Amino acid sequence: MNPAELSISQLRAAYQSGDLNPADAINSLTEAIVAKDDAIGGYLSYDTETALAEAAAADISLPLGGVPIAIKDLINVKGHPASCASKILDGKYTAPYDATVIRKLREAGAIPFGRANMDEFAMGSSNENSGIKPCKNPHDLNRIPGGSSGGSAAVVAANTAIAALGSDTGGSIRQPASHCGVVGLKPTYGRVSRYGLVAFASSLDQIGPLTKSVEDAALLLEVIAGSDAKDSTCLDEPVPKYSEFVGQDIKGLKVGLPKEYFAEGLHPLVKERVEKAIQYLESQGAETVEISLPNTEHAVATYYIIATAEASANLARFDGVRYGHRTSESPQDPEDNKLIYHYKHSRAEGFGDEVKRRILLGTYVLSSGYADEYYKRAQKVRTLIRDDFSNAFEQVDVIASPVAPTPAFKVGEKSTDPLAMYLADIYTISTNLAGICGISVPCGTVSEDGSDLPVGLQLLGKPLGEADILKVGAVVEAGQKS
Ligand code: GLN
Repeated sequence: MNPAELSISQLRAAYQSGDLNPADAINSLTEAIVAKDDAIGGYLSYDTETALAEAAAADISLPLGGVPIAIKDLINVKGHPASCASKILDGKYTAPYDATVIRKLREAGAIPFGRANMDEFAMGSSNENSGIKPCKNPHDLNRIPGGSSGGSAAVVAANTAIAALGSDTGGSIRQPASHCGVVGLKPTYGRVSRYGLVAFASSLDQIGPLTKSVEDAALLLEVIAGSDAKDSTCLDEPVPKYSEFVGQDIKGLKVGLPKEYFAEGLHPLVKERVEKAIQYLESQGAETVEISLPNTEHAVATYYIIATAEASANLARFDGVRYGHRTSESPQDPEDNKLIYHYKHSRAEGFGDEVKRRILLGTYVLSSGYADEYYKRAQKVRTLIRDDFSNAFEQVDVIASPVAPTPAFKVGEKSTDPLAMYLADIYTISTNLAGICGISVPCGTVSEDGSDLPVGLQLLGKPLGEADILKVGAVVEAGQKS
């Protein structure tokens, strides 16, 4: 038994039976990382020594006792680096506190192990925007793993992690999960605390699990979910025992199929895999209903106004004054304002191109004279998109769709065309605009150039409907094995 290859539930069972102990898991993961991660680039750093010390003290009777979890590099773990894959923080910032999700993981006995690569400040869909190093898809090293939680998805897929946490602002958990063939769940906005998550777009961001099975996603979610006095947007609602919904039947459950998500632009083989998974749900007693989400065509534009506006405000804190990269240049011209010079140069040197593009775009849509035309209008359209989902959920229990229009594309294929990359977010971003929950569950592979590339089925649920999508997701997963 190679511990690195196990899921959370398998690892826990091996601990309980005495076949393995937490140090075995850390050692096995370290060996796997040494053997594979140079080629994949899933990790920005990892600290075996600290993890082994925590493993020695682990209480395996706790729900996640001794289970190592890889953490996307924008979630604060006390004493560990958090670079957000940006040169502005790389080597210059050590988290002084634990994010709430990390506190909850620790209380459940888990061991945060390894900092997962990502697109810089979570901006991107391919990991090509990582300011530190690229991350590749373990199923084909010439292809992208997806993004922005590409590292989190890649390390789970490559068995260099047991499970991981990522964040999803517009699809960043579900899309890399789909491309890497793992399970990825974006919780309802407010289900999981954002305290200690470096903010990209605060009204859209959510932390969630990337795992080897639907059951593992449920196990992680039931630990990290729940109210938090440190995040006022976090909902004070009871946390169900999500894992109990895994294995339940779906007879009579209504599954909505949004016609706008199966239209032009969807790769025919991705469509085929997704439709096959939906047919399987029908064979298990679900009823499918065609629905419409008529404002889908406005989702990409709306998202890229709201997300960039919020990002431009959130990223203002990286100014080279209190922490992070500080320019070594100083003004030559005595007329230059020293402080402004310092800000400009520190930020110009520290941020990558995509981050700069978003800050510029966000500042523009918020600027006086344009805010009404762009930002306020986008907020109104956001309400329409939310209403589309509320109407749909009056007819159905969950919504099924593709996650991404194509399988993982080749490295470099879209990096010179940011708009093409933005447009590929079409099936995932409305979820965040509406604040609802979604999951990607592997539903087969598509062969391209000799590689078998994973495809995910997306299941969207009502606000706080995580139990529904986990239940249906587990049926999809069982169908893949049957
Ligand atoms: N691909 C989207 C973007 O680039 C989503 C990112 C995310 O969810 N963090 O903004």
